[in-house]
Amino acid sequence: MFEVELHSHTLFSKCGLHTIIEMLNAGKEAGLKALAITDHGPAVQGHQASPFFHRLGNPVPGIHLLKGVECNVVEESGEVDIAKKFVPYSDVLLVGLHTNLPSTLDKKTATAHLINSLAKNPWLDIVSHPLNFDFEIDFHLLAKEARRMGRALEFNASKLQQGKVSVEDTRNFIRICKEEGCLTAVNTDAHVTHELGRTSEMEELLLLEDFPFDRIVNRTFESTMAWLDERRQHKIL
Ligand SMILES: [Zn+2]
Ligand SMILES: [Zn+2]
Repeated sequence: MFEVELHSHTLFSKCGLHTIIEMLNAGKEAGLKALAITDHGPAVQGHQASPFFHRLGNPVPGIHLLKGVECNVVEESGEVDIAKKFVPYSDVLLVGLHTNLPSTLDKKTATAHLINSLAKNPWLDIVSHPLNFDFEIDFHLLAKEARRMGRALEFNASKLQQGKVSVEDTRNFIRICKEEGCLTAVNTDAHVTHELGRTSEMEELLLLEDFPFDRIVNRTFESTMAWLDERRQHKIL
């Protein structure tokens, strides 16, 4: 199991079921040392609350709260929907393709949306669920660019565990990330408390593919904090 979860949702996302405190308590119980709360950006009805970024410390002793957003790409130029005032107060920022975009996007265009968002917004850290049911992505190209720009691609444990992506496709995506040498993060993208810490199916596939664990940024608390510290310089606007 990984010591840090870098992607989770609360009631501030339309699809989340719990409060920040409930998620932190559950994360602590699941054995996490740190939990990132990364509610959706406004393009899919997510909400960023100012007091969360400006006033909340570490409300649950024994687990470190990391603050972030899962941003939505809103156009091919790479524009994303987060209010920039929250960037300097964020520990980790994800970007993904979601239902605000037409599901008819072809592979080339969908891939361009993600790559352009990384190029345009140096403060974005992780691409959430590049492997997903809705949009086809050129993984080789995305992984090459992610490596060049020092960003991480996510292995999304929930999508695998819930059968939203196949074992075969996941193994293929793992192999490409290994081949291209990009950084990665293993996240659950938890929307409910019991999903936190559930990464065993993904871990099994990573072992089968002999994926180098030193390329997984959230493998330990120390490795996560070191990487996020490095990334912090890009969030000073
Ligand atoms: Zn997402
Ligand atoms: Zn998410």
